[in-house]
Amino acid sequence: MTKRGLLIVLSGPSGVGKGTVRAAIFKRDHPNFIYSISATTRQKRHGEVDGVDYFFKSREEFEAMIDADKLLEYAEYVGNYYGTPLDCVEEMLSKGNDVFLEIEVQGALQVKERMPEGIFIFLTPPDLTELHSRIVHRGTDQKEIIEKRMLKARQELKLMTYYDYAVVNDTVENAVKAIEAIIKSEHLRVNRVMSELIKGEFESK
Ligand code: 5GP
Repeated sequence: MTKRGLLIVLSGPSGVGKGTVRAAIFKRDHPNFIYSISATTRQKRHGEVDGVDYFFKSREEFEAMIDADKLLEYAEYVGNYYGTPLDCVEEMLSKGNDVFLEIEVQGALQVKERMPEGIFIFLTPPDLTELHSRIVHRGTDQKEIIEKRMLKARQELKLMTYYDYAVVNDTVENAVKAIEAIIKSEHLRVNRVMSELIKGEFESK
């Protein structure tokens, strides 16, 4: 039997740089690391590709996925749905891949309810001024949306206590290194190593 992979949930407030950190992790050499592509109802941004960045869905299609219980979690965020397709996550975990979710905070808390064995990492900004300037400089949103995202970010920072790890995104490189170190140590947890050893013993008899 293949060893089940780890479910890694990277979350944190909008604008903190989750997408950038995730992209930097996936540029490095992690052969059995898989990014779980989310479904969303938001408009495709310039340069985004369906099935690579997101699965872009209509509201009707997304609501049909909710009704059929096809999502591990979902959230409505700044007027659009975002969610994680459940089947893909299950299949990849059971094939021994580490599955990486990059999702907002409400969704991460739902995953914690359904799959508490996951590893929950909260990415924080060094401070709120920095977060505001990151949201503004991203330049993809209007003023009203920026203010909504800032308000939400303040509320979300308080939810950090539900997570296993907090990583400060001062530089992308530092954040990536910290996340890689967390994953490495999680693989070395005694219960994981031990269950592999015991399984090996049974299989050899
Ligand atoms: P954006 O519109 O900037 O791509 O994403 C907005 C927010 O939605 C980000 O915080 C992103 O992490 C989050 N997000 C992306 N995919 C999912 C998902 O599948 N579920 C949830 N709950 N949030 C998601």
